[in-house]
Amino acid sequence: MNRIHNFSAGPAILPLEVLQKAQSDLVDYEGTGTSIMEKSHRGVDYTQVHEESISLLNSILDLGDDFEILFLQGGASTQFLMAPMNLLFSGQTADYINTGAWSTKAIKEAKAFGEINEAYSGKDRNFTHIPTQEELKLNEQAKYVHFTSNNTIFGTQFATEPETNGVPLVCDASSDFLSKPIDITRYGIIYAGAQKNLGPAGVTVVIVRKDILDSINKFDIPTIMDYRTHAEKLFNTPPVFPVYMVKLVLEWLQKKGGISFFEQFNAKKAKLLYTAIDQDEFYTGTADHSSRSLMNVTFRLLSEKLEKKFLKEASSARLDALKGHRSVGGIRASIYNACPMESVQALVSFMADFKARNG
Ligand SMILES: *Cc1c(COP(=O)(O)O)cnc(C)c1O
Repeated sequence: MNRIHNFSAGPAILPLEVLQKAQSDLVDYEGTGTSIMEKSHRGVDYTQVHEESISLLNSILDLGDDFEILFLQGGASTQFLMAPMNLLFSGQTADYINTGAWSTKAIKEAKAFGEINEAYSGKDRNFTHIPTQEELKLNEQAKYVHFTSNNTIFGTQFATEPETNGVPLVCDASSDFLSKPIDITRYGIIYAGAQKNLGPAGVTVVIVRKDILDSINKFDIPTIMDYRTHAEKLFNTPPVFPVYMVKLVLEWLQKKGGISFFEQFNAKKAKLLYTAIDQDEFYTGTADHSSRSLMNVTFRLLSEKLEKKFLKEASSARLDALKGHRSVGGIRASIYNACPMESVQALVSFMADFKARNG
């Protein structure tokens, strides 16, 4: 086996144990003589996979009876429109906190369904900053407050949920889902594409509070875009293999010690990396210190030429997918739950070595 140190922002690294388990199940799922991909999504085997994934997620997040968990398709990008399509009537207002490229896209879609109040925009600071409570201009009448808990491209993250005085949060948690504990009572909807921190591309987890579902009072939502359709029953064929992979990742996460384990583990990895960045001027973090992401660590070198050299040599040292998003440039190390400590250690020693040779 010859696996690289994988710092991909998404689709991202999956736990090796999970890949191996999937490999051993692939052609003959638990002695049934077919793979899980070749069975009816309404048969006993897949039904069990689907229900177990839901109950594992429910118990990991301690959701109790108040939430529905849906496994949908179309990525987080579809949720940008599905959430406002379900929740907003024309004339109603929603607050959106704009902390980057993904929030900007969410805002664009929401505008078709109601009044959007941009409660904060980090655009003029090139999205290096997460707003403090005082910087938020929330509207008391807002139906919900939308925020992006972790900004995958700009390397910033909310340390805690914004305070909304009871207005439900709608959260795009695609790139930090299950990376640390959250206060679930504050949320109306949490959605996350699986391919960063939860599984392979192809499934989007949507968690919706039941009283919000019950309060949807619109009759013009296309059937497949209506949350109630999916909450009621398995409406159409779900992405069976991605859901099965999510189940394996959830089992792995629970075995490791659940969210509280990953909170500490992720903090440790990020600290190691930020400490290496902050040693002197050779490396510079791009995000405000107080806004730094524990999932996507973004930094620059002294010149673009040096960054190119860094990426090239890193790749030769089997440190892969470190190139920053094209809109930010520089370097980005994505260190999600499944990224092992050894990979971060390998990166940190490469950084020290590279600095010694080029500083
Ligand atoms: C990757 C990402 C998305 C887009 O997800 P798709 O599944 O490609 O639609 C949206 N929001 C955030 C925060 C992301 O990291």
